[in-house]
Amino acid sequence: MQTKALVVLSGGQDSTTCLYWAIKNFGAPNVSSITFDYGQRHRIELDCAREVAAYAGVDNSVLPFNTFSAIGGDALTDSGIAVSSHVSSDSGLPNTFVPGRNLIFLTYAAAFAYRRGIENIVTGVAQTDYSGYPDCREETMRALEAALNLGMESELRILTPLMHLSKCETVELASGLGALPAMALTHTCYNGQRPPCGQCPACELRARGFAEAGIDDPLLQTS
Ligand code: ZN
Repeated sequence: MQTKALVVLSGGQDSTTCLYWAIKNFGAPNVSSITFDYGQRHRIELDCAREVAAYAGVDNSVLPFNTFSAIGGDALTDSGIAVSSHVSSDSGLPNTFVPGRNLIFLTYAAAFAYRRGIENIVTGVAQTDYSGYPDCREETMRALEAALNLGMESELRILTPLMHLSKCETVELASGLGALPAMALTHTCYNGQRPPCGQCPACELRARGFAEAGIDDPLLQTS
């Protein structure tokens, strides 16, 4: 029996690369995607995820919950906080850190996968070249995978193909997987702008990755 994979698709560059990685490794008919409507400021992310999934020919399910905006305190769900790359002296983290976000996303993804007989969850977290979010670390992923399998009596795997890649290497991987045309549909900008602002930490990180890989960003060519 062919195994199945569920990709956590945010509509961004990394999760789109993961979607194409999953298609290559599991075959498109065995891949589906899930997107979280968590009250993010930029609703364009949800549209991008839907467009990327449709372009790649895989199902996309949107799961709604808005608990993060009720908790508040981060720049991605609270429109009263401006996005900044400045690192807090208290936590050592930028204000785009949403505490617990990946833990909660992956727990919901695991429940979704369990119900549908899907054995693999694919997520684009990376511990290199990143904002230093502790919920993107390999250790966190392994601990969460163990907790989920204990708590659900299951054998799910959390796959993280980008974990040890730099942004440049992620762009090269996307290129090799034939994911570049879909990159024109993705969204990365923390300020929710399309065409992207080019100034925010997410835009800068994306631009650096494409520049180092020597590849033109398809998003910038179409916008
Ligand atoms: Zn931006």
